[in-house]
Amino acid sequence: MWISRDGSSCAPFHPALLDVSLRKVLARMWTRIGRCFSLAKLNHKGCWSLQQLVQREWSQQKAHFCLTSGQHSKIQSLASPLSEAPSSRKSRSVGISHVCTLKHDRQLQVQWEDGSSSLYPLVWLRDNCQCPQCVLQSARARSLQLSKLDIDTGVDRVLVNEPTKVSVVWPDQHTSEYDADWLKRRCFSTMARQAMREELFLNKRVYWGSELQIPTASFQEVLQDDKAALDWLTMLRRVGIVYLKGAPQEKGQVAKLSERIGYLRLTFYGHTFEVQDKLDANNLAYTSGDLSLHTDYPALQHPPGVQFLHCLQQAKEGGESEVVDGFQVAQQLRQKNPEAFRTLSSLVVDFTDTGVDYCDFAIQSKHRIIEVDGDGHVVRINYNNATRDSVLDLPVQHVQPFYASLKAYVNLLYQPENLVTYRMEPGDMVTFDNWRLLHGRKRYSSDPGHLRHLEGAYLDWDVVMSRLRILRKAVHEDA
Ligand SMILES: [Zn+2]
Repeated sequence: MWISRDGSSCAPFHPALLDVSLRKVLARMWTRIGRCFSLAKLNHKGCWSLQQLVQREWSQQKAHFCLTSGQHSKIQSLASPLSEAPSSRKSRSVGISHVCTLKHDRQLQVQWEDGSSSLYPLVWLRDNCQCPQCVLQSARARSLQLSKLDIDTGVDRVLVNEPTKVSVVWPDQHTSEYDADWLKRRCFSTMARQAMREELFLNKRVYWGSELQIPTASFQEVLQDDKAALDWLTMLRRVGIVYLKGAPQEKGQVAKLSERIGYLRLTFYGHTFEVQDKLDANNLAYTSGDLSLHTDYPALQHPPGVQFLHCLQQAKEGGESEVVDGFQVAQQLRQKNPEAFRTLSSLVVDFTDTGVDYCDFAIQSKHRIIEVDGDGHVVRINYNNATRDSVLDLPVQHVQPFYASLKAYVNLLYQPENLVTYRMEPGDMVTFDNWRLLHGRKRYSSDPGHLRHLEGAYLDWDVVMSRLRILRKAVHEDA
């Protein structure tokens, strides 16, 4: 049921960051999440509360995760093991017991009251002086120019005036003051950096297969309630798909939801787009035929990160939606067929899309089907068979291995244990990670008096994550 034009996308996923025990706990948690949703279904509630689910999960799991306390919001609690790094806000009020300068290494060593210590290069401290001369306070942006930065700076003296402040007087007598919490959050240890990375980007994902009970929330609650919105976006990030129930059965709802976040992504298919059986369709999605699993818009060099689809009218027969966790299946491919994984994550293939919609377009892009970052983590799937170009810019001997590898991946995508099928009804909206999920649609009967009709919109992950961080701050400060 998903639409789709081209498609693809990506999202940072860091399985390697999860240690084995955490993975096991996440797996158990996920099984329980599924059970919770099943129970909610039994209660015949049109939609169940994501917050309830989260709260329930958290109460069952808190023995394993002592990262946060009950004063956090419910979703936050659930999100804690999944989204909040060990450096959670709670642990941040540690005082400074001692500081010393390691002159040889040009570093400042801070001894914390909890017995731990952190090292800060002097050049970084000077570069990140927070005073009004060095930071434009109204923009919260560094005004100190690199040309003025002495990268070999020493210090004149260092003072701890109170347990939560350290002052550094530089050789030119400029004075910088640093807050203990601020420093601790920027500790350079591997663990602290990992925690900060997780807090900022929520890269840890919950993998799933056909057992997934799609997390569901109320459209109206998400619009009106910050905690509900935070729960929704956290789940969208962690799980990759969230269903919203109860949207009005009229156009304009995907735009309204986009405004709740920030702004939607304009593409050649318009600000929003209508997924319907269209005469002379300019996209395979605008027909009533099967749509094979794909990501949207890999023909763009930067495919949209998030997609909303709102069902205004469903077909009488057919039109079911299919989704697969592309990251999970990439992981399966890596284990079962490392050569195919290596091929799809290294060979660059061409995508194209040509036509007229919002305006005329002739776009070309190049992507790896499985995009990995420098650490080998899968960050985006770029695959839409409809817009994969006949231009294939590969040495001829790579062509056959490319097809063999792609076929191996697509075969895995379609394994019944990986596929989730559902049917949207009018008023339902699905929101999903287009960098991670592949989606498809089963053929439907095109009845002129009862046209299947979805309205869709795209957003960029930058915009969605921005809202998530702001909501998290608001909800925490409210708690
Ligand atoms: Zn300064």
